[in-house]
Amino acid sequence: MPDQKTKTSKSMSAAGAAEPDTLEQPDPEGLSPISRRSFVGAAALAGATILSPMALTQSRQQTLSGRQGDNASDPGPENAPLLAMNHSANTPPFTDTGNPGPVWYSFDLTPKRLEGGGWTHQVTERELPPSKDLAGVNMRLTAGSFRELHWHLADEWAIMLAGKARVSVMQPDGKMFIDDIGVNDLWYFPAGMPHSIQGLEGEGCEFLLVFDQGAFSEDDTFLISELLAHTPPEIIEKNMGWTRQEWDQLPATQLYIFPADLPDNLNADNRFLGSNRETQTQFTFKMSSMAPTVKATGGEVRIIDSKNFPVSTNIAAAQVTLKPGAIRELHWHPNVSEWQYWIKGKGRMTIVTAEGKARTMDFNANDVGFVPAMAGHYIENTGNEDLVFLEMFKTGHYADFSVNEWIARMPDRMAQAHLKLPLSVIRRAPQTKNPILPK
Ligand code: MN
Ligand code: MN
Repeated sequence: MPDQKTKTSKSMSAAGAAEPDTLEQPDPEGLSPISRRSFVGAAALAGATILSPMALTQSRQQTLSGRQGDNASDPGPENAPLLAMNHSANTPPFTDTGNPGPVWYSFDLTPKRLEGGGWTHQVTERELPPSKDLAGVNMRLTAGSFRELHWHLADEWAIMLAGKARVSVMQPDGKMFIDDIGVNDLWYFPAGMPHSIQGLEGEGCEFLLVFDQGAFSEDDTFLISELLAHTPPEIIEKNMGWTRQEWDQLPATQLYIFPADLPDNLNADNRFLGSNRETQTQFTFKMSSMAPTVKATGGEVRIIDSKNFPVSTNIAAAQVTLKPGAIRELHWHPNVSEWQYWIKGKGRMTIVTAEGKARTMDFNANDVGFVPAMAGHYIENTGNEDLVFLEMFKTGHYADFSVNEWIARMPDRMAQAHLKLPLSVIRRAPQTKNPILPK
């Protein structure tokens, strides 16, 4: 390592003279500059010159005892508003090491596609590259405005964030389902099934869509306008009986999101469908009137997957509410990655992956969080109001492992051999799974 000496002496001088310690060279050992700085600072204080990542874990005691020597002074430029919003991103807890990849993005960093009837923007694999399982779209429709009749390759899960909408979806057997959706209600449209969304009276609506393909794009959907505009008019005449002059009046380009008159009431639309109305499959789920799956002093969890919402065969969700100071306990999910949407409040999450890589970030409303498959994580409400967020999974069945429950199942000798603590201390931990732990 030709640069070791330079870095060590630089750190030593930084520790002595309180100069900023910026390490801008590539990092062949996979340590982030921040964690390396902490370690190098500790090693320098201890008079050591060890720098390998293996030594990092081996000399944990040294590192911890060197914490008082850390110097976080930063006399150069800084983005103060960003630091105020996400302090953990820049100054992580000392337990963060390595680089497990990005875990945070925000819809408020993505450009809105503005249309006459509303807008849309998205956080996909393009914005958050490790998120291969799911992608999200945040959309607004003013009163009466439509998201044009369309279909796509991915399954679509949705939650209403504000206002009300009317949704429609048709099955291959020709039966159509129409329903009205309010705040905290859900819908699920399987791939290929044509559907529409329309903002209702008052403020219209805003909602979050989640697709079971990380690379999904809201611009890459099949639209009824484009299907008709790109079919030769003589075929339209044979297929629909519409003349060339009538074909000319069809939209020449996509409508996508556009203003329209408010619909008739829901009963009238269902009367219109008559026997063609789908009554067997429920494509909407009224989460607004669902009792919590878990209710604790620190908050609530509602789990919605194919067990209680049978049509949602490939996307499972948990809506979590945490009171100030409460945590979503340390856990992991055994099947897939987790994609989060933060609805309200403020919190902090750490993910811990294999090889001890760990990353902590702060989150606010309209942010997206990502947890790699199998990675351990917790979420803490660090704000003064309730925190509400969604855990989303590309699976039909929600599942998680509680670390506390696992420890509780370990026979005494097994637990002591691994944790190196007195048994009385080990058993002080909760002996059951508690998805939410109070402050
Ligand atoms: Mn859609
Ligand atoms: Mn989770």
